[in-house]
Amino acid sequence: MQEYHTAIVGAGPAGLQCARKLASYGYKVIVFEENKVPGEPNYSTAGIPKEAFERFKLPKKCIGKPFSKVSFITPNVNLDWGFKKEIGYTLDFKKLKIGMADELKGRCEIRYGARVNDLKTDDNGITEIEYVEGGTNSSCKARYFIDASGFSGVLASRVGLRKKVPCSPAVGIEKVIRIKLPEHYKDNILFYFGDKFVPYGYAWVFHFGEDLYKIGVCTYNEHKLLKKKKHLNHYLDEFVLRFGKGKVEEIHGGSIFVTGGFKKNTWKNLIMIGDTASTINPILGEGIRHSLYSGDFAADTVYMHTRGLTETLEDYDTIINVYRQNKWILSKLLSNLIYSSNDTIKDIVIGRLRNMTPEEMYKCGFGYDFNLLIRKILF
Ligand SMILES: Cc1cc2nc3c(=O)[nH]c(=O)nc-3n(C[C@H](O)[C@H](O)[C@H](O)COP(=O)(O)OP(=O)(O)OC[C@H]3O[C@@H](n4cnc5c(N)ncnc54)[C@H](O)[C@@H]3O)c2cc1C
Repeated sequence: MQEYHTAIVGAGPAGLQCARKLASYGYKVIVFEENKVPGEPNYSTAGIPKEAFERFKLPKKCIGKPFSKVSFITPNVNLDWGFKKEIGYTLDFKKLKIGMADELKGRCEIRYGARVNDLKTDDNGITEIEYVEGGTNSSCKARYFIDASGFSGVLASRVGLRKKVPCSPAVGIEKVIRIKLPEHYKDNILFYFGDKFVPYGYAWVFHFGEDLYKIGVCTYNEHKLLKKKKHLNHYLDEFVLRFGKGKVEEIHGGSIFVTGGFKKNTWKNLIMIGDTASTINPILGEGIRHSLYSGDFAADTVYMHTRGLTETLEDYDTIINVYRQNKWILSKLLSNLIYSSNDTIKDIVIGRLRNMTPEEMYKCGFGYDFNLLIRKILF
């Protein structure tokens, strides 16, 4: 059995970024990904601020379209913010992961089609993980383990860091549609709030390519929705119909663990990152940027520990909680409040943002500046 410095479970943005950083330190790293096809699952709308795209030197070939406009729509309110330059990109999620993995060739081993399903521990933490690859059971030893398995949290849930099945996951689905839409939709990301679009969540249209759009819906309380209302697919179909008939190129979706974050994200020699650690921001479901940051933080923590500069991996808990501040908890509260309110309240609350400048909108939407947001809503 081969031994590694670090074993990472999950080749999503979090796991791949962590691998990139650890490989840059020269460590022997392995990544396990249960999907056989690189880049799968291709579930995300993948809108990302330009600042993060550049900070992490993401592969340019994964850019679908840049965006320089943001719109908020409720049943009776239409707000548009236009920026002088592009402020972000809608990415091809699959190409993003393939590009990040390609960069690791020769520097890190990635095992596609290898599903991690168990682990062994001793007093110091995890000693090895067990996985199934091509029907064969194998195991892998490492000094450090990173759980970047997203929603499933395969290692973290086994050692008791978090629950296996989250009590209230958010679920999102979207269609990639080839369709001609008016100029207003070009270089834009549009968010729709209201039960008339989808209950307990929001809908969106992201420009993704020449006459190509990602159109989707998500709900923050799937069980409530499914029990009392109709299936999420129903809302997606109804929402898509608003834009006329187009050619559906793809349909995909996924579940996200939206909690506002955990205080404890480490256990002995294990760190959980990205969606496993619920780093996604609850307000508009932005997860990729925060997954990338958490991957970097985890790699730096492992580096410090390997060099004997720290005694435990708990520094990661401090770093990730400083990064989130109280903004994730406030985002969670605000999203509960907005998404559970009726359409009249949504009209009023979103309508209050009418006088926000584009710069203020950016600070609230991407910087989660709640002081500013609450001032705008209340005064
Ligand atoms: C519909 C939808 C739209 C979204 N839109 C946006 C957006 O526009 N912008 C944005 O920033 N975020 C968006 N998000 C969220 C964003 O995609 C996630 O936050 C981000 O991808 C999380 O990255 P991750 O690496 O932590 O997890 P994932 O991307 O989920 O990666 C986890 C990986 O682990 C693998 N895995 C799981 N279990 C095992 C196992 N046992 N063994 C081996 N491998 C395993 C999985 O196959 C997967 O590849 C969206 C999410 C959804 C559902």
